[in-house]
Amino acid sequence: MQSTSSTPKLWALVDCNNFYASCERLFRPDLLGKPVVVLSNNDGCIVARSNEAKSLGIGMGEPEFKVRDFLKRHGVAVFSSNYALYGDISNRVMRTLETLAPVIEQYSIDEAFVPLSGPLACNADELAMSVRERVRKWTGIVVSVGVGTTRTLAKLAGELAKKGEGVYRLDAGTSETEKTLSKMPVEDVWGIGRRSAEKLRLRSIHTAKDLCDADGGVIRKLLSVTGLHTAMELRGIPCIDQSDAPAPRRTMVSSRSFGEKVTEKKYLAEALSMHAALAGERVRREHLVAGGIAVHIRTARHGQGPFYDKTAEVSFSSPTANTRQLIKAAREGLDTVFLRGFEYAKAGVMLFDLVDRHKRQGNLLDFARPDAQAAKDKNFMSVLDMVNKRFGRGTVRFAAEGAETALWHTKHTRRSPKYTSAWEDLPVVR
Ligand SMILES: [Mg+2]
Repeated sequence: MQSTSSTPKLWALVDCNNFYASCERLFRPDLLGKPVVVLSNNDGCIVARSNEAKSLGIGMGEPEFKVRDFLKRHGVAVFSSNYALYGDISNRVMRTLETLAPVIEQYSIDEAFVPLSGPLACNADELAMSVRERVRKWTGIVVSVGVGTTRTLAKLAGELAKKGEGVYRLDAGTSETEKTLSKMPVEDVWGIGRRSAEKLRLRSIHTAKDLCDADGGVIRKLLSVTGLHTAMELRGIPCIDQSDAPAPRRTMVSSRSFGEKVTEKKYLAEALSMHAALAGERVRREHLVAGGIAVHIRTARHGQGPFYDKTAEVSFSSPTANTRQLIKAAREGLDTVFLRGFEYAKAGVMLFDLVDRHKRQGNLLDFARPDAQAAKDKNFMSVLDMVNKRFGRGTVRFAAEGAETALWHTKHTRRSPKYTSAWEDLPVVR
């Protein structure tokens, strides 16, 4: 949510290819060209596959026990997930991106949106190539870059980049883009889930192009204003911002640079608690629960003092989206990575192993003694979300998040007043 000097003309989506599998391979060059899969928390399901594993027909989300023999027969290298490693490599990728663009919006562990304005927008194609080259050279990770007029078009371009040459561009309104959109099934559009797609198909909206051309009123009726925003974005009208973007499927990231350098652990704990609360809120909105949380703290890239950058991972015994638990785990993570004597510039959390709340694998102990506290917490969370939705984010917050006026909060010195949503910012008429 950093302010940009001018409205971006284009967006780039940078996405790491087969990210977890690629991370594992970085330190195991003997596995180059071999099938690799990574399992979810507690080794339950397959959550990442190298291209070779995809070609073998191994499905995403497949339970490990069902394919155990198959994996063995085909010599597939199988890894438990290691989010401390993935988080760390992810940070290196993001830092590399920051050397090429002034603002990046990390979207998930392996994806970032980059707003392009001014000269960056004019040279978007060159920038996309430089991003690919530099990230590969500096981190060993291969990325795809999608460029588009809006976030939604960039995301779609990213999918095509992944399947093709590594770079793809979709400019709104051109005949080339229309041709491409007419070949893309509507469920491939960012934010259009399977159920939305079913509703659209009943109205003969089958492709991204159909959605782009459809009547706004019809879409609004079918998919609410969120769906309408998606359709407008396909037309090239930016409607989606960082806070209302559809949730990523597997990880939820919340992180930000501090307004002022932080040396005390207390303030890092507050910032991490705030990010845990933010991420939790967004995960609950999508009816997801997380298998664990990764905590990340670092000093400035070009700071004066020594450089420090560390990620810790905390897993939950059973998946949760309860802010109370998320904050507790974030603080536990901080205990393991915090070192005195550094000037910290940034902190964040990532919720990983996101699964549908209703499909989560329970813990046997939970079934053995149903937890009255858990039920209470769930009600508490829905009330909290309702209040904050109605009266604005942060109306009800956890004390652990610290004061809203704390110096570590990002400064928005050039942000315009909240004319329409805060009493103290109401414009005064004389
Ligand atoms: Mg990826």
